[in-house]
Amino acid sequence: MTVSVATLTGTEAQIDEESLEELRMMVRGDVLTRNDPGYAAVRRPYNAMHPGTPSLVVRPTGTADVVVAVNFARSRGLVVAVRGGGHSIAGLSSVDGGMLLDLGRMDGVDVDPDARTVRAQGGALIGDMDHETQAFGLVAPSGIVSDTGVAGLTLGGGEGWVRRKYGLSVDNLLSAQVVGADGQVRTASADSNPDLFWALRGGGGNFGVVTSFTFRCHPVGPIVAFAGVFHPAEDAENVYPRFRDWAQSAPDEISALIGCTTLPASENTPPEIHNRPFIVTGALYTGDPLEGMKIIQPLREIGTPLADISGPLPFVAVQAAFDEFYQRGTLRSYWKSTYVEELTDPVLDLLVDRALNRPHDRVFVVAFQMGGAINRVGAQATPYSERSANWMVSIDGNWLDASDDDRVISWFATHGPGCTR
Ligand SMILES: Cc1cc2nc3c(=O)[nH]c(=O)nc-3n(C[C@H](O)[C@H](O)[C@H](O)COP(=O)(O)OP(=O)(O)OC[C@H]3O[C@@H](n4cnc5c(N)ncnc54)[C@H](O)[C@@H]3O)c2cc1C
Repeated sequence: MTVSVATLTGTEAQIDEESLEELRMMVRGDVLTRNDPGYAAVRRPYNAMHPGTPSLVVRPTGTADVVVAVNFARSRGLVVAVRGGGHSIAGLSSVDGGMLLDLGRMDGVDVDPDARTVRAQGGALIGDMDHETQAFGLVAPSGIVSDTGVAGLTLGGGEGWVRRKYGLSVDNLLSAQVVGADGQVRTASADSNPDLFWALRGGGGNFGVVTSFTFRCHPVGPIVAFAGVFHPAEDAENVYPRFRDWAQSAPDEISALIGCTTLPASENTPPEIHNRPFIVTGALYTGDPLEGMKIIQPLREIGTPLADISGPLPFVAVQAAFDEFYQRGTLRSYWKSTYVEELTDPVLDLLVDRALNRPHDRVFVVAFQMGGAINRVGAQATPYSERSANWMVSIDGNWLDASDDDRVISWFATHGPGCTR
């Protein structure tokens, strides 16, 4: 059978059975066309707006397979999408008609506890990495949803619960192994291909296929102090300023957020918050859990919460605490964010307005506390150049039905994070 695959010049390459067979012989992983039974079972992307319908899927098991796949694609001029964890909001996790290089089988993680480093393959998820590092009481700074890919997250910066104490993922990246479009394997680090190393730390992708990342780790957990407090949305005008006042004097050991959304009933969330708009305040303390519980106590004393899941908790549980907000392959998503110097009163007014007037229940209006170690890195040191703001405001537009696409997306033009009224 011949398979048509989109090329970079807008034509279709005809890949005959013999070439496919050759590719199958050369890779240890999977080579799948739409007729193969395994095709439908490939992990879906997060954003249901962009499922993608690749003509050809290669699922490598290691760097050697990636080299073969890249050479195969280059020699035929194929359009290629590279998928790590599949969490691209912009629709870069897949491709229509082209070749998908899905690294999902490359999810290995190795910790060197003496050197305090971890090496994660290009298809590992944050949850895979935390599982291994936490066995040694270590953490490599990443994100806050366990299902996100280490690869795309790192290539874009990587903001997680330890960001103010230990920085972003890119600030802790020591080296990466990269297969270039020329099929050559390179190590990128401060000493080896430093330009490539610079680009990988926030440049967003398209500098080659990263087959592994090596990060510096830090001692955090396995138990950490965590605040997770849920308030009725009607209390916004009290909760937001009190959260802001607490957060702006918190030490770097604290990374905090405040957000507003509505979630359906689930056994993973407190029943008190089901199907009603709520505000959540969250904070993690990276040091001694008992000391941390004292520092987060004022957050727990704001107003009359609907529910409070705070406590000394396993770090891996904290890393999954927001998983329920985001379900892979079901939510349609369009997100926008911006940085703000401080949560001044006018900024808070805008935040509260957006929180209370979301265009869909599932939209999450959230402010992440930044600063600390993030801002101690020079603006030119990495492509992640925003190193002065103390907050990032994101409106995570999530909804369920395609019939809402236009309405929700056009709302951003007048009410998105860049809009000042
Ligand atoms: C539910 C959710 C929660 C999120 N939470 C956070 C968070 O807490 N902190 C944060 O910083 N960000 C967060 N993000 C943003 C996330 O980091 C980016 O969307 C990121 O690009 C996802 O990476 P991925 O590997 O899962 O996605 P993918 O769709 O697989 O990849 C994203 C981009 O990276 C490229 N890429 C992926 N793997 C490789 C590779 N191995 N080599 C070369 N290029 C590659 C892809 O081609 C694509 O351009 C979140 C996103 C979602 C949807």
